[in-house]
Amino acid sequence: MQRALVVSHSGQTPRTVYMRQRPDGQVEWQCDCPGFAYKDTCRHIKIVADATRAGLLTMEQIDDHLYD
Ligand SMILES: [Zn+2]
Repeated sequence: MQRALVVSHSGQTPRTVYMRQRPDGQVEWQCDCPGFAYKDTCRHIKIVADATRAGLLTMEQIDDHLYD
């Protein structure tokens, strides 16, 4: 399980995104924002997924403007 904190410049609440790789190789995402609870995905997950693809594998804190 990996965890990333997505911080915001526009004053929105920082959100924590969790990434878990299942034994079958599938990756499961979770976020603590209301959008994720409603839609099962959100912009924070997209930001972290993009950062991961860009090679940022040890993620602790990610600026939400970097990968928007
Ligand atoms: Zn979110």
